[in-house]
Amino acid sequence: MERELRFAIIGAGMAGILSAIKLDEAGLTDFTVYEKADRLGGTWRENTYPGVACDVPSHLYSYSFALNPEWSHVFSPGPEIWNYFDRVAHEHGIEKYIRFGDEVLTCDYADGKWHLETASGHRDEVDVVIAATGVLHHPKYPDIDGLDSFQGHLFHSARWDHDVPLDGARIGIIGTGSTAVQITSAIIDRVASLALFQRTPQWILPQANPPYSDHDKAAFRDDPTSMDQLHNNLSQLFAEGFANAVVDAESPQIKMIQEMCENNLETSVTDPELRARLRPDYRAACKRLIVSEDFYQAIQKPNATLVTEGIDRIEEAGVRTKDGVLHELDILVLATGFKSDAFLRPISVTVEGGESLDEAWAKRPSAYLSISIPGFPNLFMLNGPNGPVGNFSLIEVAELQFGYIMQLVDRIRAGEATEISATHDATDAFDAARVEAAKKTVWSTGCRSWYLDDRGVPAAWPWPFDRFREEMAAPKFDAYDCRAPSR
Ligand code: NAP
Repeated sequence: MERELRFAIIGAGMAGILSAIKLDEAGLTDFTVYEKADRLGGTWRENTYPGVACDVPSHLYSYSFALNPEWSHVFSPGPEIWNYFDRVAHEHGIEKYIRFGDEVLTCDYADGKWHLETASGHRDEVDVVIAATGVLHHPKYPDIDGLDSFQGHLFHSARWDHDVPLDGARIGIIGTGSTAVQITSAIIDRVASLALFQRTPQWILPQANPPYSDHDKAAFRDDPTSMDQLHNNLSQLFAEGFANAVVDAESPQIKMIQEMCENNLETSVTDPELRARLRPDYRAACKRLIVSEDFYQAIQKPNATLVTEGIDRIEEAGVRTKDGVLHELDILVLATGFKSDAFLRPISVTVEGGESLDEAWAKRPSAYLSISIPGFPNLFMLNGPNGPVGNFSLIEVAELQFGYIMQLVDRIRAGEATEISATHDATDAFDAARVEAAKKTVWSTGCRSWYLDDRGVPAAWPWPFDRFREEMAAPKFDAYDCRAPSR
């Protein structure tokens, strides 16, 4: 007899919305989406800094079942992406499932159920938890002396304070990741001065970002199959030209990316001294590759300063660098990235008679195929540890993972298993293979980056994307502890 299941989805970002739509479509309507904020949209809700955009082409960074003829640009801006998720959620009628403004604090597994408790004291009891909690969502604040003493406006890039006027301000930005680069290009013409505090230079891939014309959009609207084709072509191109390149440091594609970045630097930056300070001493794409149409132009403007001297401390009036210079500022933005190993924490996750998640992940987070953690039954993650996080559209990743999770869930629904979690053996073997494969990736070629775990091993999926697709096509059930129902 088919078992009726109740689900909890944690998070109403891209992956949580996807899960809700898919459960609803499958007629599995007994679920709640828990969202700590008062709006959906995850990273696109939290990152509202000037210039925020996605460096995955918009027609690829779209749900395959909700392609969008209205994208304004090849790489559309963040607010448009947030609107897209909001609209898709609305059109699929899933808002009714979302409990906004209520953060899940604990998930305890006992007596065959997950018991959830939220910040408001609300309790729920579910059969299956789908953790769609995102990857880069806990801002990392730098450990710099005097951070609290700054008398101007100070905020992390993911906590942008839109009440602070930028026009005519003296602004400092710490960091040179994708975020800092996007902010720099977006605001350089508005601010009086911009000091970019660079600890490590970055390779930058030039990337034009043309708008889609009204004619293009009408053509997509009139012939949706042309969008399907574009989506599929971009997926293929991205896999071959980028995702498969970064996992093979000797591939011709990664060498081509290196040449394009070098050429971009050589031809875009005229002053040899500035060029030298912008030139990384590690390989392109070792750190997450930055894509920008105009960062080099922005940093060469007369009101921009690239500060490569190390930061000594932060004072009331600004940033003091190690050479004794005080860079006086009105606004200081910390574009210093995120804690990339939290995943569903700080939620306290425990299993009766077993480990807590903090114990299981005491060394570092890991999961079988990034989805299931040994000893944590009926809890499945989207975009969990060791997935293809930096090398592909996370939407396609989440769609593939969701399809896989549903095949596990079907076993439970069919009454063939009451509990499913990956075996320790399968997880250990997966981890060992992953660590070995990571040696060949460009991420291992000598740089500091958030891809690297505490041992310096890249934590991301180290194989070509096709292998991920193949793995996600059908679970290998011998990799799972499937507890049979008692008869
Ligand atoms: P990030 O890539 O982690 O960069 C953080 C920057 O802050 C680095 O330049 C880092 O320097 C610097 N930093 C950190 N602590 C510092 C300190 N104490 N002193 C000086 N500098 C310090 O963060 P992000 O730019 O926010 O990007 C995070 C990720 O979000 C990206 O890798 C990407 O995956 C994603 N993202 C994507 C897009 C997109 O278009 N799809 C846009 C923005 C972000 P070091 O390099 O020396 O560590």
